[in-house]
Amino acid sequence: MSTGLPFFRYHPDPVASGSFRESAERCTCCERSTGWIYTATFYTAQDVSGRFCPWCIADGSAAERFEGEFADAYGLDGVSEETLTLVSRRTPGFRAWQDPHWLVHCDDAAAFIGEVGYAELAAHPEALEQLRLDLRMHGWHDASQLDSFLTSLGQGASAMLFRCTVCGSHLAYIDAS
Ligand SMILES: [Zn+2]
Ligand SMILES: [Zn+2]
Repeated sequence: MSTGLPFFRYHPDPVASGSFRESAERCTCCERSTGWIYTATFYTAQDVSGRFCPWCIADGSAAERFEGEFADAYGLDGVSEETLTLVSRRTPGFRAWQDPHWLVHCDDAAAFIGEVGYAELAAHPEALEQLRLDLRMHGWHDASQLDSFLTSLGQGASAMLFRCTVCGSHLAYIDAS
């Protein structure tokens, strides 16, 4: 798909994930109407809507001007300062029940793919297996309960799916209200 949008290494299809939608609305930063508007999280102490065009996010001008971030650094352990800045200040965030955060694989931030249910997750067995391990570590010891929770993903709780930008494997975390 070619939308003419800037490329975001850590969020390659922000239209599919719903973070940008087509709109005639003007960007809060550059005040242009580009045809696209940002709809997800922006954290700032300033009183601003956070409805930006993709270009003001990509070049960092929205984050700089309004002293804000699209995602916080939670979970981004072991990545370079440069990557941290790129993810938090120059990459569109996404909507989630909990504060959105990025996963790390191969010492780099992973690319956010989207919110998925069990069917999409099942196409990536490595992501499913990693979720199973995570949940076990968080005290889910009953295997059948764990399986029925995983297969119910998409109704209520869902999974946030990422793909490693280095090795290409998929990983995910659970998002629930
Ligand atoms: Zn703009
Ligand atoms: Zn990897």
